[in-house]
Amino acid sequence: MKYLVFSDIHGNVEALRTVLDEIDALRPDLVACLGDVVGYGGSPAECVELVDSRADITVCGNHDYVAAGLGDGDDFNATARIAIEWTRSVLTADHKELIGAYDSLRRHGDCIFAHGSPVDPLAWEYIFTMKDARRALLGTSERIVCVGHTHIPGVISWREDAGARIERSSIIEIEPDRRYLINVGSVGQPRDGISAASFALIDARKGLINMRRIPYDVGSAQERIRENGLPESLASRLALAR
Ligand code: ZN
Repeated sequence: MKYLVFSDIHGNVEALRTVLDEIDALRPDLVACLGDVVGYGGSPAECVELVDSRADITVCGNHDYVAAGLGDGDDFNATARIAIEWTRSVLTADHKELIGAYDSLRRHGDCIFAHGSPVDPLAWEYIFTMKDARRALLGTSERIVCVGHTHIPGVISWREDAGARIERSSIIEIEPDRRYLINVGSVGQPRDGISAASFALIDARKGLINMRRIPYDVGSAQERIRENGLPESLASRLALAR
């Protein structure tokens, strides 16, 4: 079983198309999207439609939740709020219905999929620290826990008797007595200083986790943000990846 897992597209269809091309080449058995399909970027409708046609599993992100009208986004900063209001104005009722149907949590085989911490998915908790990671691992039982939300990719492994360890390689061999927390990073708005779209490929048969980056046309994505009158900072941050 080969899983391709991506997250946080944020209305960036240029980045999403690049990842989808890679999916065509890699031919995974299951494609999972960990949410925040919309918000910030200039092409939310296209992203909702593409994710709907290509992902086998999609879980809800905090921006999706507000875009679908399920939440009010009162915890969003000013820029995020401007972007989500614009997003809501350009999405049709059909798009909102698709988004509103995303699950908060999904399981498949040895994997569990959530946007933020799977312990309380609609609380949208970020997993930044080792303590956060431990809590997420202890609160679940699946061998592989896949999350997004922070826009920063990374893998932490856990062994009952030895505790947590940060995995620093981009190709990680799955050890039989360890569990893995994988933050797949962000397709459409990475924040780790690398502008390339981020995703993870998990090959359960070969026992490998492959953390992948793939460059896309950042300039076109920035243009789309500017031509829709969204805040300039949303365009400039794509190149800075902050
Ligand atoms: Zn996000």
